[in-house]
Amino acid sequence: NPAEAAQALARRVVTRLQEAGHAAYFAGGCVRDTLMGRPPKDFDVATAAEPPAVLALFPRSQQVGVAFGVVLVREKRAQVEVATFRADGTYSDGRHPDAVRFTTAEEDARRRDFTCNGLFFDPLAKVLHDYVGGRADIEAKVLRAIGSARERFGEDHLRMLRAVRFAARLEFAIAPETWEAMAQLQGNIGGISRERIGEEVRMMLEHPARAAAARLLAELPTMFEGVFGFSAGTERLFATLANLPTGTRRHVALAALLRDVGADAAPMVPVLRRRLMLSNEESEALAWLAAKRPLVEAWEDLSKAATKRLMAHREWQGLEALYRAEPDRGEEMLAFAERVASLREEGVAPPPHVTGQVLIGMGAHPGPTFKGWLDALYDRQLEGEFADAVAALAAARRLMGDPRS
Ligand code: ATP
Ligand code: MG
Repeated sequence: NPAEAAQALARRVVTRLQEAGHAAYFAGGCVRDTLMGRPPKDFDVATAAEPPAVLALFPRSQQVGVAFGVVLVREKRAQVEVATFRADGTYSDGRHPDAVRFTTAEEDARRRDFTCNGLFFDPLAKVLHDYVGGRADIEAKVLRAIGSARERFGEDHLRMLRAVRFAARLEFAIAPETWEAMAQLQGNIGGISRERIGEEVRMMLEHPARAAAARLLAELPTMFEGVFGFSAGTERLFATLANLPTGTRRHVALAALLRDVGADAAPMVPVLRRRLMLSNEESEALAWLAAKRPLVEAWEDLSKAATKRLMAHREWQGLEALYRAEPDRGEEMLAFAERVASLREEGVAPPPHVTGQVLIGMGAHPGPTFKGWLDALYDRQLEGEFADAVAALAAARRLMGDPRS
């Protein structure tokens, strides 16, 4: 189990640092998740030891965040980030501190974003070091900025998106002062790098709590618009997002958002691509989903061949998930599931009976007509018109006007 391996490694790291005389604790998300009885994603260690001392204690380690004093300690099956207690200097770009300075655990806790993320735990002494009131907020299920919310969001605008993501995921209410600051500063979101916004959006939308995140964002319309470039947020959208299955990818959830926009969704694909730094593959998949969505909505009117072609596409799973996730499908959904299962049983992407090679062998010449023949023959095959390859070949001859047929 990789999480257990990481925890065991983190314990060994803390032990060795403490034996060498340095304060060292579990820090941040892993302490929060453990207190909440959730399995942590990874284990981070915070220590008084400065990077050269950490590097010297762990032969298989390397400095990753040179500016921030972060050292990555690796083992075969696990890795742990070891960060020296630090205070962040001034922020002039709304994202990165201009300089950092090494300091005490308490000051390190205070530079963190939210009280629930500002806890340290000493796994050897079994002592929680809580300089920011994190434990009480976790118990009360409150997400609260550490210190002045306006200052903290002013320093680093990305924290506002993190607030939405954590509140949704942890099912916390956002503290009033924290929320007011977000409402006031939401327009600043445009100043964050698009990569960072895209990654935050990915984490929000790929998590099962995506509907709660979208709902919160929609309550901050300027932030929503700043992130996506359009506004959305009907109850129908939230219900759809909530119903999407685990493992849903970012572009599938984005397709649900586009659906909420209505008829003008297609031109928003390049907008999302640019704003969220989608890869080519992702934006092509999104464009396909947006284009095919109306077809699957009207699946009862689609030919067998057209449905099979949709089902053979690599994004079909996403399209199907979107269709199924819409609320109030009722009995139509059973009929849809039935149709999909029976087409799948017939085979949605059988090898074509008539290929280009076969047509050439029959004397045809490649070109637009040729391509049209191939498509028509494959559609008829998908429709189930041909009992076998011989029947398909006969149909090909008829198409080509072969006198023998
Ligand atoms: P996750 O489970 O999503 O990894 P996490 O709490 O570990 O949650 P990370 O983004 O991995 O979050 O960051 C680790 C810790 O670093 C946080 O718990 C927080 O204390 C601190 N941190 C991260 N990003 C910021 C930020 N932008 N401003 C202030 N502190 C931050
Ligand atoms: Mg983390």
